[in-house]
Amino acid sequence: MAKIIDTDHLQIAKKDMMTCTMCGFCKSVCPVFEGVGWDSGVARGRIILAYGLLRKDIPADDSVVEALYQCTTCKDCERRCPSKIKVVDVVERARKDLVKAGCMLPKHRKVLENILSKGNPYGETRSIPEVLGEKPHKARVGYFAGCTSAYRNPEIARATLSILRKLGEDYTVLNETCCGSVMGRVGQNKDDLIRQMRRNIDAISEQGVEEVIFSCAGCYRMFREDYPRYVDVPFKVKHISEYLAEKDINLKQLDKKITYHDPCHLGRHLGVYKAPRDVLAKVPGAEFKEMTKNSAQSRCCGGGGGVRSAYPELSEHIAGRRVDEAAFADVLVTCCPFCVNNLRAGKGESDVEVCDLVELVDPLL
Ligand code: SF4
Ligand code: SF4
Repeated sequence: MAKIIDTDHLQIAKKDMMTCTMCGFCKSVCPVFEGVGWDSGVARGRIILAYGLLRKDIPADDSVVEALYQCTTCKDCERRCPSKIKVVDVVERARKDLVKAGCMLPKHRKVLENILSKGNPYGETRSIPEVLGEKPHKARVGYFAGCTSAYRNPEIARATLSILRKLGEDYTVLNETCCGSVMGRVGQNKDDLIRQMRRNIDAISEQGVEEVIFSCAGCYRMFREDYPRYVDVPFKVKHISEYLAEKDINLKQLDKKITYHDPCHLGRHLGVYKAPRDVLAKVPGAEFKEMTKNSAQSRCCGGGGGVRSAYPELSEHIAGRRVDEAAFADVLVTCCPFCVNNLRAGKGESDVEVCDLVELVDPLL
């Protein structure tokens, strides 16, 4: 349905939108533009559309909604933008206005209903501790598996728990619910998001942990960047790669060529580039080589920002190109279950094995 919408959220980003010089530098990096091929599929086009909504020059029709929801929020355009425009902020503000106006994609509506009614985007009825077969209790370290590790890649959650046991850590699983990442990324209202945050903070605080460790780059970013804006976070937070990088671990030999894919939400959004590489450097025998696009310049896997759930073919197309960049390696390691899923889904006939860092480390420990 095409309608002119209120744009309270976009209003705050007006200056950013007006700063775009239309230079088109963002075209050279946007993973979606490579797949879509139209200007509406790149930062410049999304900014024009968002500005059109703000000025009430254009209605929020299906093509506008699609363009604004085909952004993976990878932030690569911001790195390239000479005007330093906060593109992801503009896109997420536009999404909030779209959601408020009732212009939500059906796939995202279902995901959000699942989070609000079941506490996870997949509509699963068992709790995460039940799925992992562990009882939450008091301990020094809490493991926040995240919905994707627990329900879709339990091998990642199990490998993490196995590592914590092997290291003799005083750990517990957590009475966790969805971190709210997908709610924030697709534009759900602030009240629902804050309620979701409070549920987690209250449940985790009751378990008295000092430190919470995360598998998922998206969950970790929520607790490091988004939660502190709205709620008090009374414990330290760490990604599993940072936790492992600090440990003095002896790993078995692995005679393989390995490379590393930086998850956008861990790398460009949080600046965690070194820790996973430090862990990989501890693997004797492994021959590590960077992909051409790595660290801050790493290409997106195509899975973030709600794109995977709403546009799976586009996501997999982007993932396939990323795996092709790793063709020289035996193993493409990454640090996020969401990236693992998407890269595996998009890798087609490629011989490159895709795995999470913990899946590589656990059998070697
Ligand atoms: S690089 Fe920045 S200023 Fe240039 S077109 Fe893209 S968003 Fe606009
Ligand atoms: S955040 Fe990523 S997907 Fe979105 S416009 Fe920028 S480069 Fe493209």
